[in-house]
Order: sequence, then C-alpha cells, then structure tokens
Amino acid sequence: SSTHFGYQQVKTEDKVNHVAEVFHSVASKYDMMNDLMSMGIHRLWKRFTIELSGVRKGHKVLDLAGGTGDLTMKFSDIVGAEGTVVLADINDSMLKVGRDRLMDKGYSSNIEVVQANAEELPFPDNFFNCVTIAFGLRNVTDKDKALRSITRVLKPGGKLLVLEFSKPENPLLTKAYDLYSFTALPVMGKLIAGDSESYKYLAESIRMHPDQETLKGMMENAGLVNCRYHNMTGGIVALHTGVKP
Ligand code: SAM
Repeated sequence: SSTHFGYQQVKTEDKVNHVAEVFHSVASKYDMMNDLMSMGIHRLWKRFTIELSGVRKGHKVLDLAGGTGDLTMKFSDIVGAEGTVVLADINDSMLKVGRDRLMDKGYSSNIEVVQANAEELPFPDNFFNCVTIAFGLRNVTDKDKALRSITRVLKPGGKLLVLEFSKPENPLLTKAYDLYSFTALPVMGKLIAGDSESYKYLAESIRMHPDQETLKGMMENAGLVNCRYHNMTGGIVALHTGVKP
C-alpha cells in the first residue's frame, strides 16, 4: 500500500533494464542537467503544460514519470488541501531525489509518491482528473500499453498531457539540433555528470520517438478524443493533449 512519501513497491523484471540504469546514473545531477541542457527553457515548456492542464482546486492529478517532481510541486499548489497529486515513476533513485527535494521545499501534505510502471498503473479506473507525462513517454517500452493504462485511470472528461521531444518543423533547425544533441550534450554529460553514455542514450531516444502526428494517432487509438498538439521551440518539443470520453 502507499503512504505519504512511502513507496508502493512494484515487481520489476529481472532482465537488466537499460532505461532504469540510465536514470539511476543521472538522478543526482538530473535537475542541474535539465536546466543546462535546455538552457532553462524546460521551465517554460512545463509552465505551458500547467496552463493547458485545466487543473483546479480539489482535483486528483497523476504526474507520471514525474522524476524529481517539477510538475508535482506546481500541481500541489493548485489542487490545495482537498486535492491530491501522485508523483509516480518507475525508478526509485529518481523518486528518492524527488522526495527529498519535495521535503526540502516544504511540500508533503497533498502528495503521494508511488513507484509504478506506466504500462501497468496501480490505480483504480476513472480516478484522475488529469495525467501528465513529461519527457517520460519516450522511455516507455510499450507506449501503446502505457497510453491505454493512462486512459483507464482517467475519469471521463479527464485530460492527458504528454510533453515530449518531437520533430522540429524546419530542416535547418533539425541540423542545428542534431549537432547540439549529438556533440554538445554528451560532452556536457561527461563533464558534469561524469557520464556521456547516458546522454548519448537520451539523444538517441529523442530521435526514435514518434513524431507529432504519429503520437496523436496513438492517443486516439488508446481511446482518447479531442487529441491535438502544440509545437514549442519550433517543434523540438510538443505538448499533446487528449480527453477521455
Ligand atoms: N517528468 C520529469 C521532468 O520532466 O523533469 C522527469 C523526466 S525524466 C527525463 C524521465 C523519467 O521517466 C525518469 O524519471 C524515468 O525513471 C521515468 N520512466 C521511464 N520509463 C518509465 C515507465 N515505464 N514508467 C514510469 N516511469 C518511467
């Protein structure tokens, strides 16, 4: 069972999980690297996500693949004492960093921290007013399964927001972005986190991720309606939204 700032343990497979390894190795430096690599712009992408979420006082929100809890903190302020925010992530190192950070900043009363796999969410049907997954879906092995699982836990009328790297709209921007992420990122990863491999993996996972229209179709296939997306920073990032009918 889950408690405030306790973990709900889930069974994970025995096979070495590369994604898990990557995030174990970057957890402690994660927040600083986020600011550095995105030049602080991830804060704007996240702010826009909050604005479009429609979350209000008293709502139940799931911040899935929530990592160190950036969105969780913002939602915690909005939903207030009558609401709940669940910070869920598959990786206990990320959750530990997140939990410590939430405590340091004085957050706790309306937040639950749960270790969970997006593909098999341990929550009841029709439970959340809103689910966000920010820079998390690209790491999920079976994305269609995760989208179905998310749809199941949303209340009818509830909203999914997927914030994720996507396909730049213009070829010149694509070139510059490739250059940046395949050369500058691993170097920064090496210098700051002592780990260039993890950042190489991140750059590769971004290229493999479905583009805007493909992800929109996947959300529709999972049973969501009113699916649309907003490109940000020239399509380097896109915010997809969909509603459970
Ligand atoms: N949402 C946070 C943010 O925007 O700063 C963290 C994003 S971080 C790049 C990606 C997170 O996805 C990691 O914490 C990782 O552990 C988590 N993750 C990867 N696969 C997952 C899965 N199948 N289920 C839940 N979380 C997962």
